[in-house]
Amino acid sequence: MSPHHSVQYPHLLSPLDLGHTTLRNRVVMGSIHSKLEDRAKDVPKWAAYFAERAKGGVALSITGGISPNRTGWLLPFGGTMNSTKIADRHRVVTDAVHEHDGKIAMQILHAGRYGYHPFVKSASAKKSPISPFKPRAMSTREVDHTATDFAKAARLARRAGYDGVEIMGSEGYFINQMLTARTNNRTDRWGGSARKRMEFPREVVRRTRELVGDDFVILYRMSLLDLVDNAQSWEETVELAHLLEEAGVSIFNTGIGWHEARIPTIVTSVPRAAFAPLTGRLRAEVGVPVMASNRINTPEVAEQILADGQADLISMARPLLADPDFVTKAAEGRADEIITCIACNQACLDHTFKNQRASCMLNPRAGFETELVLLPTKTVKRVAVVGAGPAGLAAAVEAAGRGHDVELFEASAQIGGQFRLASQVPGKEEFKETIRYYRRMIEVRGVTLHLNTRATAEALAGFDEVVIATGVEPRVPSIPGVEHPKVVTYAQVIGEGVPVGETVAVLGAGGIGFDVAEFLLHEPYESLEHWMQRWGVVDPSLEVAGGARGGLGVKAKAPAKRKVYLLQRKTSELGKGLGKTTGWVHRQTLKDSGVEMIRGASYERIDDEGLHLTQRDHDDAEPVEMLIKADTIVLCTGQESVRGLADDLIEAGLTPHVIGGADVAAELDAKRAIKQATELAARL
Ligand code: NAP
Ligand code: SF4
Repeated sequence: MSPHHSVQYPHLLSPLDLGHTTLRNRVVMGSIHSKLEDRAKDVPKWAAYFAERAKGGVALSITGGISPNRTGWLLPFGGTMNSTKIADRHRVVTDAVHEHDGKIAMQILHAGRYGYHPFVKSASAKKSPISPFKPRAMSTREVDHTATDFAKAARLARRAGYDGVEIMGSEGYFINQMLTARTNNRTDRWGGSARKRMEFPREVVRRTRELVGDDFVILYRMSLLDLVDNAQSWEETVELAHLLEEAGVSIFNTGIGWHEARIPTIVTSVPRAAFAPLTGRLRAEVGVPVMASNRINTPEVAEQILADGQADLISMARPLLADPDFVTKAAEGRADEIITCIACNQACLDHTFKNQRASCMLNPRAGFETELVLLPTKTVKRVAVVGAGPAGLAAAVEAAGRGHDVELFEASAQIGGQFRLASQVPGKEEFKETIRYYRRMIEVRGVTLHLNTRATAEALAGFDEVVIATGVEPRVPSIPGVEHPKVVTYAQVIGEGVPVGETVAVLGAGGIGFDVAEFLLHEPYESLEHWMQRWGVVDPSLEVAGGARGGLGVKAKAPAKRKVYLLQRKTSELGKGLGKTTGWVHRQTLKDSGVEMIRGASYERIDDEGLHLTQRDHDDAEPVEMLIKADTIVLCTGQESVRGLADDLIEAGLTPHVIGGADVAAELDAKRAIKQATELAARL
């Protein structure tokens, strides 16, 4: 790392002295449940995952949540730290991180009523709106034992070689459940008043400090904004921070929103660093370092937060999944080579919530470090890649990274494919970063790019390997009148700016139908304030006594630009197939804008009057005739593979590698395309 380069991010790259130990810079990999923490057999993979991030310069990593006991399990048989045998197993992980001069803390998470098993216990017997399991209220003694279990887990973590622990006190897990009147109606020593509800986290920290000694980091992830009703007020949050600091917390991390909150906190439409000002406010109240988190994804944004005095450390989880070398690249003046996390959640949190291993859509090696390995090639081949959408870009850049001689052919004037369309959708601007990344890597890795070039079978003769990533085209369903001039495809609307009328029917309610509706209704958020108004988030320090707690205010209605109908043939709820962690945000946004969602549609015909259909709410219902007097009908009815060239080559006796949408258009998604491309590049 040259001193010249570190000048660019002086705050981010400066060490932090914690007294008994020093963090080498301000970058912390925040906790994300990878699914590798739960099984003994996965420990080597888990170690490789953290080692790669430590090697890339991360100062401190925090593990996914580990339960202090069985009652606290998030999922049955989830990672637990309750025996020396388990602690000794974790050694492999802590040693791997220390080998690269990184530090690692174990997160202790008690799920309380968010546990996904029938034995859940919480502060009270109140069920969470997002869980099917009704908890049992813990007895006074059980709460007491739970506090001790946190402390014992921390002592075992120390034995395992961890540099610290993070006590999970946010996102609506057990500690939050103990803290708020929303969930804690106890009358024993753990409830009855705001101050008494703070006794549980205070005891957890106090007992932990007692068992681990002074030379061990205790992070506490503090919920700064609950975003649910009957939650903590800002004054109570500050009071809690004072109590916990006194009890022995070394660093406060920031948590925003309970999982059951219905305000987005991490999806891509949340403005970058939206909650850092709140962390700044906590920083003014306490004497220990504080850490900002949520939607911080570039070194510039992170540096600005530190320079503005809003935080001492920056927690990034998904951005370091996307690029383990984030810190090294920033330090070496190569920030434009960083794979920027676009907050899509498709391969990380959507996997976590489906009990699958977390990875990254843009970096399929994340979580698979020992399985998907891209070694330098021994035989340099001439590789042609046709199509510069996500699949072709990934194949070209990764093959070139291994040392192959790669040429990339793209029929249009720009790279990006479907990502270029996605980046035009309000709230999806981050997709531009992915195109920036690939554009830069084409240069860095010496890929020869031919734009405006439709590759032919002849032009591809002479290459050792041919990769076909020609993508998809919109499917045009066979509805009578579909050739009417008022019918357009999503690609024409988003990509070519074809004008649309006042009343629009969007046919097809997959990811693209939802995106198109959003595109037709709204402009991008103008500012953080605008986003906060739209979602009704209030600055908690402006709370009046007894007023909005937890940051919950009143949503300002977003002016819709036109009347939109969104339709599908299935009788299920619209948007059911969208991402688990993002779908509800899309559904809510459209609902707030008055979009009419029509399921069970059978499209009869399109004519000058509009769209004629019959509709039924469930499969056995009598169909009702309807006319939507639409000026424009936008087809978002799926895609078909573009594989003419692939078929020509196969007919000529060649064996091209067909990947991405050109391979399978059904449920086409970039996650599968990029993974397939990377796996292919590893084999070439
Ligand atoms: P999709 O999810 O397959 O949706 C296609 C829609 O068209 C469905 O609503 C389907 O529902 C309807 N349809 C299919 N065939 C039809 C036909 N012959 N006639 C009339 N309607 C028909 O595909 P997509 O929306 O095009 O998205 C493609 C992929 O892009 C997605 O799978 C997703 O991975 C990705 N994407 C994701 C996001 C995101 O937010 N994560 C956003 C955009 C795109 P019915 O059959 O019930 O009508
Ligand atoms: Fe970020 Fe999406 Fe990768 Fe998750 S999958 S780390 S949200 S880019």
